[in-house]
Amino acid sequence: MGIIKAKDIVFEYIRRDEEGNVEGITRAVDDVSLDIEKGEFIAILGHNGSGKSTLAKHMNALLYPTEGTLWVDGKDTADAANTWDIRQSAGMVFQNPDNQIIGSIVEEDVGFGPENMGVPTDEIWERVGESLKAVGMYEYRKHSPNRLSGGQKQRVAIAGVVAMHPKCIIMDEPTAMLDPNGRKEVIRAARALNDVEKVTVILITHYMDEVIHADKVFVMDKGKVVMQGTPREIFSRVEELKELRLDVPQVTLLAYELKKAGLHLPDGILNTEELVKELWELS
Ligand code: ADP
Ligand code: MG
Repeated sequence: MGIIKAKDIVFEYIRRDEEGNVEGITRAVDDVSLDIEKGEFIAILGHNGSGKSTLAKHMNALLYPTEGTLWVDGKDTADAANTWDIRQSAGMVFQNPDNQIIGSIVEEDVGFGPENMGVPTDEIWERVGESLKAVGMYEYRKHSPNRLSGGQKQRVAIAGVVAMHPKCIIMDEPTAMLDPNGRKEVIRAARALNDVEKVTVILITHYMDEVIHADKVFVMDKGKVVMQGTPREIFSRVEELKELRLDVPQVTLLAYELKKAGLHLPDGILNTEELVKELWELS
């Protein structure tokens, strides 16, 4: 079994009026099965309302399925006795870094998680140092988080999760509120955690350029996983992505248009170097 495994999960939000009568039901996750292996970098794509955040909250036992089963590191999230272990195995990073940072000094903030877990003080400081180094924020350890840029704050929030030594980190649109520089910093940090620290990363995003390095991509629509594969496999399916109202990386789209116009190019070109190489070989 992988680090995260979902079997036929359904999640319904139920709206009730003041008397408690059911007013409406939204099926936000609709029969999803997936298996994520330890050490993978997973990207989840999908337009607004497709169920990404609802699915992500299942991976941290913030929600549990209405139907079906989800296991984190082999533990059933529906069993309340597992919640503590699951939250330690699977850390969560959200969109808005301001809501996640509580300390008045960077290193204190990063230490809160391990402190709550009962980690001995010496080890907390060790973990704080390592985590800040892993996200490239060690030089800012004595700074006030208020003075940092959005990308820096988000990296501090990530360090706070890393300091708890989770097996996987789920990032729900961590770059949505950042400028292009901040986005790059956060994605670089996420990739380093995966490459160097071997943390399983699940990145939810709607920026296509952030998924091209993933091992595997899941595309969601109306609560279902409608496509899954490597970035190259997914981005070869340009028409389907357009139907799902998703963009394709610009260079992939250009290659696709050139191919439609008659050039012999392979599907799923992911970066400029690949396109240049292919065009060079044509000439
Ligand atoms: P995404 O993260 O892909 O934008 P969400 O998981 O937030 O999607 O939402 C999936 C569906 O569930 C949407 O139709 C949304 O309106 C609905 N939804 C999300 N959160 C709630 C909630 N707390 N109560 C009721 N409906 C919700
Ligand atoms: Mg969301």
